[in-house]
Order: sequence, then structure tokens, then C-alpha cells
Amino acid sequence: MIQKPKGTYDVYGKLSKQTKYFEKLVSSLMEKYNYEYIRTPLFESSSLFHRGVGDSTDIVTKETYDFKDKGNRDLTLRPEGTAGVVRSFIENKIYAESLLNKFWYFGPMYRYERPQAGRYREFFQFGVEAFGSLDPLMDAEVISIPVNLFKLLGLKGIKVHINTLGDMESRNNYKEALKKHFEPFLDNLCDDCKNRFSKNPLRILDCKVDNDLECMKSAPKITDYLNEISKKHFESVKKYLDSMNIEYIIDESLVRGLDYYTHTVFEVEANVEGFGSQNVLCGGGRYNDLVKTLDGPEIPGVGFALGLERLFTALDYENIDISESENIDVYIMPLCEDKSVAIKYLNIIRMNGYSADMDYLNRSMKSNFKSVEKLNPKYILIIGEDEINNNTFTLKNNEKRVEYKIEQDKIIDFLDEFVGGYIDED
Ligand code: AMP
Repeated sequence: MIQKPKGTYDVYGKLSKQTKYFEKLVSSLMEKYNYEYIRTPLFESSSLFHRGVGDSTDIVTKETYDFKDKGNRDLTLRPEGTAGVVRSFIENKIYAESLLNKFWYFGPMYRYERPQAGRYREFFQFGVEAFGSLDPLMDAEVISIPVNLFKLLGLKGIKVHINTLGDMESRNNYKEALKKHFEPFLDNLCDDCKNRFSKNPLRILDCKVDNDLECMKSAPKITDYLNEISKKHFESVKKYLDSMNIEYIIDESLVRGLDYYTHTVFEVEANVEGFGSQNVLCGGGRYNDLVKTLDGPEIPGVGFALGLERLFTALDYENIDISESENIDVYIMPLCEDKSVAIKYLNIIRMNGYSADMDYLNRSMKSNFKSVEKLNPKYILIIGEDEINNNTFTLKNNEKRVEYKIEQDKIIDFLDEFVGGYIDED
């Protein structure tokens, strides 16, 4: 039997309902925020991720799915969403249309990671990218999105961690200080960190292997290297979060895995015991130089990405069930030879905005009622020979167990009145 590739999973049953619920919620929330949906290809030129995400990140050095197509092009399955959105923003000159452009996306990402709880090779991210504003207001707005989303879902145990990496000047001064600090300890650091030392010493602070070394704890702090602009920016972000009553923890060890961040970085953590670093539900920050790095104009951006799988684990952990879907409105039981009337009205009912289904297995009334228990429709429409001969339907209110005889062409009026929710039957 052929099996799914390692690190992937299928969506059906409860997971399918959870996913649909999530998609609807996110789509409606993003409408309220006035963000536009954007979709970019699942694969891009490999160089986009090398230049965009950064050559010193694990994502790019170890985890990409790279391949050559038949035209000998180097392509990569996208490991994250930002680089593709930025590429599209530049290539389509979207920036020329308006000074501010705010996007959201939802789709699969691919990383060749060791599969484990909360870590897949194909996983789904919802994310946003807001281009055009240097104002810390935008950082605060972007942070508020996952916070509000978690609130709407009813998640309680979340913690918002924020930090600043400062602007390029502050960041470069800090990098130099980190290099000076770590140089004498280079031999003690893991191979990855030795590499990071020259490429991006900030990433050493993010290392899971060297985490407990004394030299990590005594490393210089970014706060001592921030220039006035960077300090002011961070102070304003905090002030705006305060005014939205968003609680946060300032976490100076937060540097994030990607190379492109400037100023604000943030992560939102769930409280799932035994989940370790997989507790991080989403992460993001400001990237003032990424658009320019990818040959675009000098336009700043702020964004984040949220992992669907970890969110669902956190919801399970807090016993929050988002898999409940609405019962269908009408279930048709055609208990007659000719099913033409049944399929005709099934079609009419659906096209009038009601959810409906019917028996396709030619079952008896008894076994039909058995299968209906699972479906739990609001109404059952019975079409037997009598009904066909009299141009009527027998309509049963499944909850109240009340039966009506109605004329066939009055069915939509009936549903408008009772399912449409204007008048209570009683
Ligand atoms: P990143 O793009 O690495 O900042 O990740 C953002 C979010 O995506 C994380 O907080 C996770 O929720 C999710 N994520 C990242 N990598 C994986 C993975 N391999 N499997 C599942 N979720 C992931």
C-alpha cells in the first residue's frame, strides 16, 4: 500500500471541520482588519529564499525541499510565506497602487525537519504582511491580530513575548559586540554556532544546543546597543499594546530564526505541558530592509506567521472544540420509484441557500431514519408515492418531532419562514 510521505498528514473528519472553522474565522477577522487575501506559488526560485530568508538560517541551510525542474531551473518548495509575498509585492509593483498594502495568506509550507509532535514537513501557516508604514502603530496592529484571533477562539493560556533588534545601526553594533563576546568561547560552541558566528552572530542566542552554556547567559544585551530611534520605536510599540490591553513579556533572548528582522520581533506562546519549544504558536516582526534586499524599493514591512497544527494542539489541550458544524437544514428521503421530484427539489432547496442532502442508497424508511440520527437535519422531507400523486411533501421537524403536509411549490416559503429564522413555529 502506498503511504503518505513522512511528516505529512491528511485532513478529514474532525480535522477537516476544525480547518474549515479556522479558515472562516480568519477570513472574517481579516475582513474586519481590512487586509487583502494574497496567494503566491508553492514553489519559487531557490535564490529567493537564500537571499530573502537568509543563508545563515536553519530553514534555508538544512530544511528546504530543493529540486530542479525539467528546464534545469533551481526551485524550492516555499518554507515560509513572507519571501513569496515580498517577491510578488515587488514584481507586480503593488506598492505603486497605494502607500499602504496589507495582506494575509493561508497555505502549506514545506520544511525538511525531523517529524515530531508540532513539527511536520508539510504544515499550514496563516500569516500577514503589512507594507508601507514605519510607524510602531503598525507593529502593534500586527501583534494584535493573533492575540485577537486566540481570544475569539477562547484560548486562555497564551503569552506574548516581544523584543527589539533595533534598526540596522543598532543591530550591527550589537552584532559586533556579540562577536567580541563569543570569540574566546568559539571552541565550546556547536558547529552551527561556529558558522553563525561569522554569518549572523545574533542567531547564536537562538541556539537550542548551546542554550545552557555560561557564555550564553553572560552575552551582551541588545538594550545596551539600541540607538535613540530604536528605543523610541520600541517604547511606542509597548505603549500601543498597553492601550489595547494586550499583555506582553519583554524577552531579550528572542531573536527569531530568520535573518530579515529589524526593530520589533514577537512570538505568541501557548501553554501546553510537555510541548517544549513547540509551544510557540506564531512569530513575526518588522522587516524594514527585506523589500530592498530583494531588489524592491525602500519599503518597510511587518508580519507574522502562525502554525495551524500547533494551534489545534493548544485548543485540544484547553478542551476547546471548534469541530462542531451546523446541522444540515433538510434531508430528503425519496421513498418512491422515480427520484426526479426528489433531485429537483434538492437542487431548488440548495440554490435557495439551504443546506440539503438526500438518500442515495435507496434505503427503506427505517434504515433511512437510522442514518439520519448521525446527520441530525433540522427537517426531513419525505417523498413517497402518495406525496408524488398529491403534489405534496411530508415535512418532519426532526427536533420537535412534528409533521406537516405542505404543497411542493411552497417548500421554499416554508423554509424561509421557519429555517430562515424569522418566525418561531410555536
Ligand atoms: P517560523 O516561520 O519558523 O517563524 O514559524 C512560525 C510558526 O509556524 C511557528 O510558530 C509554528 O507554529 C509554525 N511552524 C514552523 N515550523 C513548523 C513545522 N515544521 N511544523 C509545524 N508547524 C511549524
